Amino acid sequence: MQSGGTVNGNGVGAGQNAGAENFRDTMSIVSKEGKRSWIYPKQPSGRYYRWRTILSFVLLAFLFGMPFVRMHDKPYFLFNIVERKFILLGTVFGPHDFYLLAVALITGIVFIILFTVVFGRLFCGWVCPQTVFMEMVFRKIDYWVEGDHRQQRRLHESRWTGEKVLRKGTKYLIYAALSFIIGNTLLAWIIGTDQLWTIVTDPPSRHIGGLTAMVVFSGVFYWIFSWFREQACILVCPYGRLQGVLLDKNSIVIAYDYRRGEPRGKMRRGVERTEGDCIACDQCVEVCPTGIDIRNGTQLECVNCTACIDACDTVMEKIGKPRGLVRYDSATAIASGSSRLWTPRVIGYSVVLLLLVTVLSVLLARRSEVDVTVLRTPGMFYQDRPDGRVSNVYDVKVLNKTFEKVPVSFTLEGTVGDIELMGGGLAAEPQGIAESKLLILLRPGQLTGLSTPLTIGVFADGKKLNTIHTSFLGPGVQR
Ligand code: SF4
Ligand code: SF4
Repeated sequence: MQSGGTVNGNGVGAGQNAGAENFRDTMSIVSKEGKRSWIYPKQPSGRYYRWRTILSFVLLAFLFGMPFVRMHDKPYFLFNIVERKFILLGTVFGPHDFYLLAVALITGIVFIILFTVVFGRLFCGWVCPQTVFMEMVFRKIDYWVEGDHRQQRRLHESRWTGEKVLRKGTKYLIYAALSFIIGNTLLAWIIGTDQLWTIVTDPPSRHIGGLTAMVVFSGVFYWIFSWFREQACILVCPYGRLQGVLLDKNSIVIAYDYRRGEPRGKMRRGVERTEGDCIACDQCVEVCPTGIDIRNGTQLECVNCTACIDACDTVMEKIGKPRGLVRYDSATAIASGSSRLWTPRVIGYSVVLLLLVTVLSVLLARRSEVDVTVLRTPGMFYQDRPDGRVSNVYDVKVLNKTFEKVPVSFTLEGTVGDIELMGGGLAAEPQGIAESKLLILLRPGQLTGLSTPLTIGVFADGKKLNTIHTSFLGPGVQR
């Protein structure tokens, strides 16, 4: 299995320093015997770790709190992929909005590409739920229950004793409880808190599907965070695998300044230092949650967690050197001291993204929750009524994109006349289509010609939904 190495054909991160010669031929998570090699990273500390901790609190509060936020008695966000019901910022989207989903997806993909081309895997280190949960929740439980990285490794390798059973048992019990909460939260994002509460309180036999989803989600999270861990980023994550084609020499990544650091060498007391600034303390490797050495260059396994920056900055402060031997920077900047943000590639993606955002904004602005069409019935002319009035028949179609039944009514605007819905009222079922016929009756004095322009107001529960412009056929102006 190939590990690390060059991330793209431009040679970013390839052989820029004198790191371990065989780092491309081995994986930090696989032992020489081909078995899983457990990683016990040292707990990071430093300015980036502090900022990441604060951000993770905000993100976790959003994740766990948002399913409870409601607007007009509806969830503020809902992603019910099973029933194809979606609510974003309180606005309901359904199967009829597929075209919007397609444009939004393309826009999202172009944004991710552009963001990655410029900022590398910034998302992975700061915002990705896998990293936030793994490094900011579950890893902290490890430190709390089992001690620091050395104590964890010792405990793992030690024979089973009462203390080991107690510590491991406590840890996995907390893991299980947290996984259950995360699994239920995910379910709440999909089906909403009301339905989740019904599943919890009703007899189990009435919600076999919901309970199965609850158990499966909880089980999958438990498996990921207790066993699979960093392998999710290294082996499975498609975004991680795409780095090879998305990054280039100008992308901002977490990089080791080999020009400043090399040749590396230990500090020796009383001996004048002739080497570079890297004192080969391996602190950057000890804190790495994927077990790599950033001095070997940008590698697939690097999730941009910033732990190595914090570790090296602490070392640099201790030995009286400037911070930033490991830092956010581009390969070009490390090599030459300067970097370009607006490369032709970035400009190209930015233009495409701007166009897509414009199209999406226009589509969203023009979108209504209830679409109503009123068209004169094809093949019908006008009818002379016994009371002297003239009538026209129209086909009415109401597309209801909401989750509630929508009763609609029609009013003539700016013209005196009568408007009648054939068959009484018209109401469109949730996410449904309702069709009917509309009869409009005008006195001859209201006609302005063979075709009289008409404006019809469409209302639901007294609230205006739409204004329809159509025409009314008649015998012409009566003199
Ligand atoms: S922490 Fe800094 S000084 Fe220590 S090995 Fe890593 S790069 Fe070198
Ligand atoms: S190399 Fe540094 S930034 Fe990348 S995963 Fe390891 S510690 Fe995090």
